[in-house]
Formats: sequence, structure tokens, C-alpha cells
Amino acid sequence: MSDFRCLKVERVVLTCWYGPSQRLTAASRSTLIFPDIRSFSLLSSSLTIFYLVSWVPDSTLLIHPSSFLLSRVVFRVKPSFTGIILDELADFLEKRGVAPSYRAKQITDWIYKKRVASFDAMTDLPNELRVELAAEFDTPKTEVVRVLGSKDTTQKFLFRLRDQSLIESVLIQASPALYGQHSDRRTICVSSQVGCAYGCKFCASGLEGFTRNLDAAEMVQQLIEIEKKSGEKIDNVVFMGMGEPLANLKNLLRAIRIINAPWGLGIGARHITVSTSGLAPQIRELANESTQFRLALSLHGATDEVRGQIMPVNRRYPLKVLFEACDYYVAKKRRITFEYILIAGVNDSDEQARELAKIARRLWAKINLIPYNTVEGLEWSRPPRAQQEKFQSILRKHGVVATLRREKGGDIAAACGQLRLQTRRSARLRMERPG
Ligand code: SAH
Ligand code: SF4
Repeated sequence: MSDFRCLKVERVVLTCWYGPSQRLTAASRSTLIFPDIRSFSLLSSSLTIFYLVSWVPDSTLLIHPSSFLLSRVVFRVKPSFTGIILDELADFLEKRGVAPSYRAKQITDWIYKKRVASFDAMTDLPNELRVELAAEFDTPKTEVVRVLGSKDTTQKFLFRLRDQSLIESVLIQASPALYGQHSDRRTICVSSQVGCAYGCKFCASGLEGFTRNLDAAEMVQQLIEIEKKSGEKIDNVVFMGMGEPLANLKNLLRAIRIINAPWGLGIGARHITVSTSGLAPQIRELANESTQFRLALSLHGATDEVRGQIMPVNRRYPLKVLFEACDYYVAKKRRITFEYILIAGVNDSDEQARELAKIARRLWAKINLIPYNTVEGLEWSRPPRAQQEKFQSILRKHGVVATLRREKGGDIAAACGQLRLQTRRSARLRMERPG
């Protein structure tokens, strides 16, 4: 599978060069445009030159890298309009001779403030412009397929995306002041990928591997849909749903720009937190970002030995490398928060607490202790409350700010990836045992 490049497409523009040599001329070039993926797959099977291109039923196109020697394939997925950026839209309009700043603001207001579902609903735009926009941008295709409410009013939303992938988001009411925000706010936990490639041993999101990155519109859409469904205004955003946000950095930064911008969703940067399992190079990149959102680092082990047992990413970026990146980030920006899941018998010893305190003091980090949320099919469990409190008290004794989260939404499988996992498992069960 790793030999293949997986791309999601809706419309395919395929430019091919024929002839034995690499010297390409205009005469030997032809461009084929397939209006949709189905007609492309039918045609491609009848053209031997495309023999390396195949289509699988979930509309993922697999292309063997060697096919690029013969053909150049340009994929053009019509982007959804909830991924639009004001400046880019203004450029697009200017090229078409439309008053850019006036119209661009009007359009972003329709999308992000009035939240309409189509260009047709933008009644004060000229008809031709609506048609042009609709030719360039798609309407959002993110559908809420399941909502689970919890006793403590945490709600979980399962979304189906346009390629049938499932992702989930959680709406947490009155979240405690975990990342420095006020405690009376509504927080949404957003997914950044379908599945996750990082395979942390305790996490439901990693259990079924990685499917694809979400685009910016699909991240923004989670907020828009949840506000619509719940009737609540969201004040805090944490990228702590499914996936590793820093492995999808370009789309993440675009989504944050839209969520943060006054012409977009208008949520302050200090109310946006990105959580990472510790991708050191990207942490360095974030240090140079101008938007001042918050960073949380999933540590879950204070030594390489313990962290490496449960987080495979630690082999690629061991603690020394990771902390050098954190030093760089802290020197340039503000504080990092460490997340530390407490897992019984794995990382909850007094020794780990003392090591963790040393690290937190050096990096001036605050710590969120999170009692582990059990995942069906995994053997891990949370330590007894007394041990959780002891761990916290050791940190505090060493002068570290540490909160101990009382897990919200544990009863609705609120830890990341669990609802999707349950839904996929029960769907498979239904297929295996029809009727
Ligand atoms: N990939 C990123 C963000 C998504 S995971 C990261 O790892 O930080 C968000 C947080 O949920 C992480 O701290 C992760 O370790 C934690 N988490 C995953 N599974 C959990 C579980 N079963 N119980 C409690 N926290 C969990
Ligand atoms: Fe991926 Fe984060 Fe889960 Fe690890 S904890 S598998 S990085 S989502």
C-alpha cells in the first residue's frame, strides 16, 4: 500500500505524453477531461497507457508512482466553499472583473455568518456570479449521521464525508479551564484526519490506521454543523479529535485562519488549541507562525522507555529531539501544555511523576492529567482515583501547575476515535450477519 499514492478525486484531468523518449513535445501531448470519477474509471480500463491506474470502490484512486513516467495526472477536486479565504476570493473576483473587496466580503458573510448551504441562497449576488462561483466551489457535503448525548451534556457527533469516510467531533459544555480559557465556555473537539497513522497503543483513532487528511473546509464544517445542530455558540476549539493535526499542517493552518478571522468564524486565537503527539519538525515550524493559538503536547511518558512503549512516534522523535523543538518553540512563543493520560501500571508511577515534574519545570509547562478512557478491545485502564491524586500531588510538590481532569463524556465513548470505531465495527457485524 505504501507504494501507492492515494488521492481523492471528483474530476480528473489527465495529460499524457506518448513516445519512447522523455523528450516531450506539444504534438505528443493530449489532455483528457473526465467529468467524474466513474467515467474516468470506465475509460481508463480501456486504455492500456493507464494500466497502472486503478479505481477502488470507495472512490480512492490508486496510482503507482511509476505511472508518472508515462503520464502526468492532474487532479482537480472542486473545493468546498467553507474552505474559502477572503483574500483568495478577492483575487478570484478581480480576475473576473468583479468589484473584489465589496463582493468578497458579501460572499464570506453569506458563508461564515449567515451560513447558507448554497450559492443560490446568496440572493444579493448577480446570477452570473453565482453560476461562476458554483462552477468553481462545491457546497459542503458533511452530514451528521449520529448524535450521542451524555448525562453531563457532552455530545458526540459522527459525520459522514463526501467520500463516505466517517469522522467525529465532541461538543463539551462548560469545559474546565484546561488550556487557560474561561471555564464557562463550550468547547468543540475537532478531527483533522480520517483515522491516524501514528498508532498510539491506547488510542481508538489509530486502531484502524490512516485513511486521509481532512481539507480545511471539512474541519471548519465540523464547527458550522455542530453550531447548527446544537443551537449553541462555540467559544473554544481544540484539535484533539481523530488524527494528528501537525501531519496535516497546511490544511490545519488554513482551517485555523478561517476559524480565527473576523470575516470567518471569529474565534480568538487564544481559544484555539492544537494537540500533537510530538512531531518535532512541525513544532519548530509552528514557532514561526504568526497566529498565536495554543499548543498542547501529548507526552504520556516522562522517559523514552515508558513513552516508547505506548507511542511509536517516540522512536522517530525521542524525548531529547522533541524537547529541543519545544525549547525552540517556548523561546519564540508562549507556554506549552503537556497532556498526560494516566494509564494504570504503565505511566502512573511516582518515579514518572518526579521525572515529569523535572521536564515541566525546565520547559515552564503546565500539565493536564487525564484519567485513561477505556477503549473496547484494548487492555489498558485508568489507575484508582487515589493514585491519580498522588501523581498530581507529586507534580504540585515540585512546583508544577497540574490539573486532574474529571473525564467528561466517558459514558458516550468520548475519547477520540471511539464512536467511529464502534460504528464501523457494528456496520461490519451487520454485513457479516445479514438479517
Ligand atoms: N493526535 C493528536 C491529537 C488527537 S488525540 C495527539 O495525539 O495529541 C487527542 C488527545 O486524546 C491526545 O492527548 C491523546 O493521547 C488522547 N487520547 C487518545 N485516546 C485516549 C483515551 N482512550 N483516553 C484518554 N485520552 C485519550
Ligand atoms: Fe493518533 Fe493522537 Fe491517537 Fe496517537 S493519540 S493514535 S497521534 S490520534
